[in-house]
Amino acid sequence: MRDSIFALATAPGRAAVAVLRLSGPEAGDAVRALAGRLPPAREARLRRLRGPDGAALDEALVLWTPGPGSYTGEDAAELHLHGGSATVDAVSEALLALGLRLAEPGEFTRRAFEAGKLDLAQAEAIADLVDAESEGQRRQALAQLGGALGRRYGAWREALLEALANLEAAIDFPDEELPADVAARAGAPLAVLEAELAEALSGAERGERVRDGYRIAIIGAPNAGKSSLLNRLLAREAAIVTATPGTTRDVIEAPLLIGGFKVLLADTAGIRAATDEVEEEGVRRARAWAEGAAGRLWVVDSSTSDGAWRLASDAVRAGDLLLLNKSDRPAGADASSATAFASGMGVKVLALSATTGEGLEAVHDAVHRRVGEDLSGGEFPAATRARHRTRLEEALARVRRALAALERPELAAEDLRLAGRALGRISGRIDPEDVLGRIFASFCIGK
Ligand code: GDP
Repeated sequence: MRDSIFALATAPGRAAVAVLRLSGPEAGDAVRALAGRLPPAREARLRRLRGPDGAALDEALVLWTPGPGSYTGEDAAELHLHGGSATVDAVSEALLALGLRLAEPGEFTRRAFEAGKLDLAQAEAIADLVDAESEGQRRQALAQLGGALGRRYGAWREALLEALANLEAAIDFPDEELPADVAARAGAPLAVLEAELAEALSGAERGERVRDGYRIAIIGAPNAGKSSLLNRLLAREAAIVTATPGTTRDVIEAPLLIGGFKVLLADTAGIRAATDEVEEEGVRRARAWAEGAAGRLWVVDSSTSDGAWRLASDAVRAGDLLLLNKSDRPAGADASSATAFASGMGVKVLALSATTGEGLEAVHDAVHRRVGEDLSGGEFPAATRARHRTRLEEALARVRRALAALERPELAAEDLRLAGRALGRISGRIDPEDVLGRIFASFCIGK
């Protein structure tokens, strides 16, 4: 028999209400022990909760959701307590005394997954919804919860199975015309599938960028005005006020909301020829962050003529934006030489004064447009996590191998089976215990 578990489903700390969630075969007995009797299923009732010694613990709203119609598929309940920590502690102690144990992170959703209530991608969507800070993240997670990701992969798996059936027929009933026949019947749909997977993969980073944040690096030589620009943009935008783990000492990441999307704007350490090892490491990290970013704002001091802009120029990519800063001062030779470099690379140029704010509006508009264009898309992205993208890459590689080996149907069929397996792992139940464990461990407790 399974353990019965419980956890605080609301955030810890002082609050009007705190919700304790219970699930497992002993949930009903626990509610009876605390509240006297079970309320009717799925109807909230106000009950006085008592501990094992009969002492009153709280007046609580009790919700009883018997399995299999509950979130976890098991007998489950919610206790809506007064939100003080002493109350939560007292009721938790009573539940422990009744033999329930504290849930691990994500254990409720794990049970829902195991009961077949959700596929793996939907379970991940629940975690993403809990973490969503932007409208873009919320919309994407909700669509994924609705099965958007599972449907895409389901259609691909079906196409794979059809091609596989053709190949298997060829293996089972070999005759002389076979090679041409197989190539005609399995080859054409497989080529379509290959093209679809390749296209999906090329746009796969959109989903990850919505989920993790769209990264924009501010790069440039020291003193170009990078920090001044960051401060200007932060003042202009509604900043998301959460700490970002992974922020390094050398790269300052500021989360913002731009056009409903989460954007991570980073002020990278000034890129220059490093003078010592510590600084060298800082510059290396700045460069790595800037290279992995979706876009770069390249700040150049337009009033100088020393050519310092060249230091950061190798980090610039087509589609980035060159900001000729300090436009309030007379232009130096660097303004025209950096502009010439940028126009040769397909980099748009804007004049700016981070001091006076002149030109800031145009910078802001350009950033908005770029984020919106990159992250909006008609179709649901093929991946919202690196885990999905890896599986997609694996499936594409297998389909390509199968296409190249169609004259040997046994080999091609094996590749297609493995391709199907890779796609199935996105939403399926076929991963080993430790892989699933890792996925659910990233959830919060009580989910
Ligand atoms: P960073 O090293 O690239 O982050 O540059 P900072 O933002 O720290 O700016 C370096 C210096 O340039 C500071 O003294 C700023 O006040 C000054 N500065 C930045 N932007 C402008 C600007 O648009 N006009 C003028 N005149 N000075 C600026």
